[in-house]
Amino acid sequence: MKMETRLVRAGLGTDPATGAVSTPIHPSATFAHPGLGRTTGFDYSRTANPTRSVLERALADLEGGAAGFAFASGMAALTTVLLLLQGGDHLVVSDDLYGGTYRVLEEVLRRHGLEASYVDTCDTGAVEAALTPRTRMLLVESPTNPLLKVADLPALAGLARSRGVWLAVDNTFLTPYFQRPLDLGAHLAIHSATKYLGGHNDLLAGCVVAGDQDLADRLAQVHNSVGAVLDPQTSWLLVRSLKTLAVRLERQARSALEVARALAEHPGVARVYYPGLPDHPGQALLARQATGFGAMVSFRLRSADRLDAFLERLGLVTFAESLGGVESLVTVPSRQTHCDIPPDVRARMGVTDDLVRLSVGLEAPDDLIEDLDQALDGGSP
Ligand SMILES: *Cc1c(COP(=O)(O)O)cnc(C)c1O
Repeated sequence: MKMETRLVRAGLGTDPATGAVSTPIHPSATFAHPGLGRTTGFDYSRTANPTRSVLERALADLEGGAAGFAFASGMAALTTVLLLLQGGDHLVVSDDLYGGTYRVLEEVLRRHGLEASYVDTCDTGAVEAALTPRTRMLLVESPTNPLLKVADLPALAGLARSRGVWLAVDNTFLTPYFQRPLDLGAHLAIHSATKYLGGHNDLLAGCVVAGDQDLADRLAQVHNSVGAVLDPQTSWLLVRSLKTLAVRLERQARSALEVARALAEHPGVARVYYPGLPDHPGQALLARQATGFGAMVSFRLRSADRLDAFLERLGLVTFAESLGGVESLVTVPSRQTHCDIPPDVRARMGVTDDLVRLSVGLEAPDDLIEDLDQALDGGSP
């Protein structure tokens, strides 16, 4: 079955007793044992919960992996993946990445002996040069956040597999609807499900899909041991949200292209970063390894001095941290999502105060363009 069909059918037929079309929510902490040494398959909800299992099976199917795991947040998912490593291990990480990933590596896991090198993972040669005998994992975002650079995932997978290290891809920006990292050779696909998978700015969740059974077993052990698991109510809401992922993403990506084109023509904009535009250096590569360009658009104002006025004048687009929902949001990465990255590192990356990140939602693109245009036009708010 095609992806659209699989998405809509997520959770269908999981309650044969009643025939319920919507997946039942099982808010049970524990489950009665039929007898000594016997189980219904569910013992205690941290280990497995029936509603979460429906979601986890759907996620594994969508990413084409051996098993899926649902977490209380994207950071819980990422941290659990990082706990597959041990003190003394080294990992190579995208330099242009979600600020929270940088923070957990530098402010939490470094004191437990994990050492990360930040590299432009869109340059496979630079990644290879950064490998050391202690490297155990490549952790890659593609397209990157916020500059939407594109990494050659099949090449990175080939490198990882030849060196015996795991390739973990944060697939939050494209979702399995547009990009399937495991098909491209990655070992792990990770999501902040708070974003497109949830899609309505109304839940916090994360997930990981393991490409093979060995990784699935390792993840199951850490997932259950650490316990940052997703609750049954949110698991249900996420199953419900997956059903519309295809239509949301198709429409959001189409609008993003329109908005990106309009921004590129506005005199108040110095540069637009959208991988679906022909002048984007990653366009051809992304077209080979994904089926869509996503709905994230970053752009540079002509002058950072205009930032306050621009944000103040926005009427329709909400100035708020997050992305991937039906409501369009703008973020200033240097001040918000990436503020824990040291200023000199940010400056080197190009994450400066003139950079705005836009998550294009489901509003009519003409309305979005009109709002952005008038906010860029300046004048007094
Ligand atoms: C938001 C985000 C995260 C963190 O997810 P939370 O659900 O906020 O914990 C990780 N990676 C990327 C790319 C994100 O956008």
